[in-house]
Amino acid sequence: MKIIPVNKEIVTLMLKESKTAKESGLETGGFLFGKLDRAKRTVLYATGPGPEAVRTPTFFEPDYGFSALEFTRLKKDNNFLKFVGIWHLHSVEGLSGGDIETLKRLDKSYPGFLSLVVSNNSMKIRAFCIEEGEVVERKLTLVKEKKSCLNFDRTQKLIKPSSLNKKAILSMGAGSGSSVATPYLARAGIREIALADPEKLEPTNLVRHLGTVGEIFEYKVDIIGKELKEIDPDIQLTLIREKLKEETAVKFKELFAKSDLILGSSGNISANRLTNEICLELKKPVVYAGVYQKAMGGFSFLSTGKENDPCFNCIFDYTSHGIDETNIEQEKAAKRYGFSVEELAEEQGLFIDISYVALLQAKMALLALLEGEEHQLAPLPGNFVSWNSRNMKTTWATIQKRKDCPVCNVEAYFASLESEVTK
Ligand SMILES: [Zn+2]
Ligand SMILES: [Zn+2]
Repeated sequence: MKIIPVNKEIVTLMLKESKTAKESGLETGGFLFGKLDRAKRTVLYATGPGPEAVRTPTFFEPDYGFSALEFTRLKKDNNFLKFVGIWHLHSVEGLSGGDIETLKRLDKSYPGFLSLVVSNNSMKIRAFCIEEGEVVERKLTLVKEKKSCLNFDRTQKLIKPSSLNKKAILSMGAGSGSSVATPYLARAGIREIALADPEKLEPTNLVRHLGTVGEIFEYKVDIIGKELKEIDPDIQLTLIREKLKEETAVKFKELFAKSDLILGSSGNISANRLTNEICLELKKPVVYAGVYQKAMGGFSFLSTGKENDPCFNCIFDYTSHGIDETNIEQEKAAKRYGFSVEELAEEQGLFIDISYVALLQAKMALLALLEGEEHQLAPLPGNFVSWNSRNMKTTWATIQKRKDCPVCNVEAYFASLESEVTK
């Protein structure tokens, strides 16, 4: 029998609701919300009947308004959330004729739809769905608690493992920098990592990227993913072998929404531009990093996504140039902060020097993720750091939000344009 993972809290809610309903002799039930990855459903939330539900000893209809509000509320923190099923209490074991009809109808609009039934007598929960037009039963299992097999004995006085083990990060780009930063973050205790990069490891990459001779021509995300699994076999990985561009932005947006922090490691100005715009909208923190010409150094910059903090454009001002990637001005802008992926491939630079920048990025990311949590690490000296590989010095700065940034401060920007016009 195929398995449906469910959250422990759902089982508790359904049984508690069912017990009180049984005492009052009325039916009860609600909606199920969860995740839908490929064909696999995970039930994460359940609602109760709601105050306006219709409930008799033999009939139940949920309060739709209440359920819709619950769904909207939960979706705020879980952008991926889908309507995956319904549950109810009734007196027969399994589904009644009416239940089967309802399930078949809902399966047409929501393929793979689930119907969970709590038996009035045994208080057992059974799960059903439709497969090839027929009702089939599914086995329920509890969602595995995310715990790590890593032993944090040497770090847990600095950071409580529980403050990081539910955090998810997304690395936009899986190049040299990401191949350094993400394994460090995994060792620090992050249990959910997504990597996005369309590139494969070329022979020329080997001197400054994680991987071995045997892994040449494998996707970079796969190579880093393997390393992360070696560090912690229970780590949750999402590997995307695609580029973030206008056409894929919608798909990526869901991934951004699920992440607590994004590493802007693509080194590509148009990918960083889209990352900036999506993350401002979703209010997600991003730590951007890039290297300067000949890896003479590099920078790491934390954009918190908060209203009063600067965005990527506040510093790098990509809007003052065209957004066309072939635009010469755009290329100049790219040079100001780093390189496009293509240019970086040609550019000279040691892995050692790139790694310094990646470590600064990893530390910034770690502290940003620990915001609001108790920990013993020193706070960041600023939101921007520049690393000079010639004199081996770091320079920290606190960048302010640009008053006329057309990306994060649209109204002020238009106001400044108007005053220009009226001058
Ligand atoms: Zn029923
Ligand atoms: Zn800005």
